[in-house]
Amino acid sequence: MGTAGARFMVAKQLAASGGIYLEEGDTRLALDPGPGAIVQYAKRKVDPSRLHGIVVSHRHLDHAGDVNVMVEAMTEGGFKRRGRLFCPGDALDEDPVVLQYLRGFPEEIIRLQPETPYQVGDIPFTTSPRHIHGSETYGFKFGDRLGWVTDSEYYEGIAGQHAAEVMVIHVVLLERRPGLPHLCLDDAESIISQARPRLAVLTHFGMTMWRARPWELAARLAEKTGIDVKAARDGMTLEL
Ligand SMILES: [Zn+2]
Repeated sequence: MGTAGARFMVAKQLAASGGIYLEEGDTRLALDPGPGAIVQYAKRKVDPSRLHGIVVSHRHLDHAGDVNVMVEAMTEGGFKRRGRLFCPGDALDEDPVVLQYLRGFPEEIIRLQPETPYQVGDIPFTTSPRHIHGSETYGFKFGDRLGWVTDSEYYEGIAGQHAAEVMVIHVVLLERRPGLPHLCLDDAESIISQARPRLAVLTHFGMTMWRARPWELAARLAEKTGIDVKAARDGMTLEL
């Protein structure tokens, strides 16, 4: 539903910022509904009132900007109590991104804990240890098929914690920048060469990545690592 990451890409909407939509059997999940997610779901003809859950990796705007409208859409304006919202506790407490008035709309709001398994219908997932990032942030594994490396500074162990057949990696920065706790292209290369997935997908591009043409960077990374690496595109669909 979108490949934009960080402030400038999102503000300019050079790419969409609607996060990821996941389907398995009869279960449907929205991951990180950033600004404009509701527009992307409508545009791609995915009905949010059929969602079973919304998962927010952390409270930053580019990941949670549309969480409220998505909760309303999932619950048909709050008239149909359904679905579950998963988010870190700090998305709910001080300066919350989830509005108080709609907290009764989903069947349940779950505060994510580190290294904990969850299940929504046919989709099991596990959180990683807490990432190194500006707010409480988790990465995820959906069984052994999908690893989702969300925003973080690189740290020892991040590759193994998210290792899966297909790995989606948030690469905001072309080059490491001190004081910005985000993965850069070199970090993505380390993660890919350690975890050796069948396919690695780069996404959540910041402006420096975007200007350097992510698909060309992905092709170079594939050549270097011998692993299939793709740059995500808005609207891209993957069969896992
Ligand atoms: Zn972030």
